[in-house]
Amino acid sequence: MKIGKIQKSLNRSRCSSKNSLILDRTDALYALVDPCCLCPHLCGARRLHGQKGACQAGPQPKVAAALPHLGEEPPLCGQRGSGTVFFSNCSLRCLHCQNYEISLLGQGRALTIDQLAELYLSIQSKGCHNLNLVSATHYLPFVIDALHRARLKGFQLPVVYNSSGYERTAVLTLLEGVIDIYLPDAKYGHSQQGKNLSSVSNYSEVNRQTIREMYRQVGSLVVDTQHLATKGLIVRHLVLPNGLAGSRQVLRMMMEETAGQTPISLMGQYFPTPLAKENPLINRRITNEEWCQVLKWVDIFDIPQGWIQRPERANKSHYIPDFSSEYVFPFMIGKGSQQCLKD
Ligand code: SF4
Repeated sequence: MKIGKIQKSLNRSRCSSKNSLILDRTDALYALVDPCCLCPHLCGARRLHGQKGACQAGPQPKVAAALPHLGEEPPLCGQRGSGTVFFSNCSLRCLHCQNYEISLLGQGRALTIDQLAELYLSIQSKGCHNLNLVSATHYLPFVIDALHRARLKGFQLPVVYNSSGYERTAVLTLLEGVIDIYLPDAKYGHSQQGKNLSSVSNYSEVNRQTIREMYRQVGSLVVDTQHLATKGLIVRHLVLPNGLAGSRQVLRMMMEETAGQTPISLMGQYFPTPLAKENPLINRRITNEEWCQVLKWVDIFDIPQGWIQRPERANKSHYIPDFSSEYVFPFMIGKGSQQCLKD
C-alpha cells in the first residue's frame, strides 16, 4: 500500500475510534441531565420533564449567537476567527456578567440536536479555526451529541470549551479526549466574592479543581506552525474594581496548579452592566492603579506567558456584546486589542 493510502486509512480509523468515544460519552452525559447533576449546583431538576434548576436551562439546547470571533486570544482566532457558539443561560448568576442578556435574561433560540450539528458544520464551512463552545455546561449532553452527529458528516475542527470555571470534576472526566482546548475563567480568588457576586459559596475551591482537571487532561498549550492552538489550556481572569476578583490569589493558584505552563489571559475591560450599576462595589470600571497592581503581581509571581487586554484600550462599544446588532462584537471589525503579557 502507498504511504498516502496508509495515512488516509490511519486517519479514518483514528476518526472512527474518536467518534465511538464521543458516542459513549454522549450516553454517559445524558444520564446526568434528568435529574440534573451536570454542574456543582446538583439541583436534581427533572430537565426533560420541564423542570428548571438554578441555570434556568430547559430540555433543549438554546443558542444566542454563532459567529466567527476575532476578539479571542490570538492562537484561537487566527486570521479567520474562532467559531463561537454562545449558549443561553448559565449555571452561575454573576451580577456583573458582561453577557448578561444571554446568561441571565436567557435570550436565544432553542434548537434541535440536528440543528445544532448543522450550526457546527456551518462554522467549519465559514473557515473558522475551531469550534468555541461558550457556557455549554448546562447543555453538555446535547452539545456533545451534536458534535457526534456533525463529525459523522465531516466535522473536524478542534473543540474549545469556554467555561465559567465552575465545573464538576466528574463531568469533566467525561470530556477527556473530546475537548481539545479548555478556556476556563478564574473569576475569584476568594469564595466569599463568589457568594456575593455569583451566588455560589464554593467558587474558588471548585475553580481550583476545575483547572487542575483540565490541565491534567490537555496540559500546556500546543500551537501548530500557523501559531494556532491545537490542544491545551488557557485561563482567563477579569480584573474587578476594589480588588473583588482576588487577582493576587488567582495568579498564585495558577502557578501552583500549572507551574507557569499555562498562559493567562488577563482582562482589564470590565464595564458595569445595569445590574452591577446598582452595587456600589462594582458600579465603575477599574482604575489605572488597580490594573497596575495586578501587573505587578504578574511580575512578582513571574507568570511567564499570556495576553492582556488593557483597560484604556476598552470602550463600551468594543467589549460589551450587543446581541441585537448585526456585528455582535463590533471590535471584531478591527483587530489588535490584545497584547502579549510581557510586551
Ligand atoms: S446544570 Fe442547571 S439544572 Fe443542572 S445542576 Fe446545574 S444549575 Fe441545576
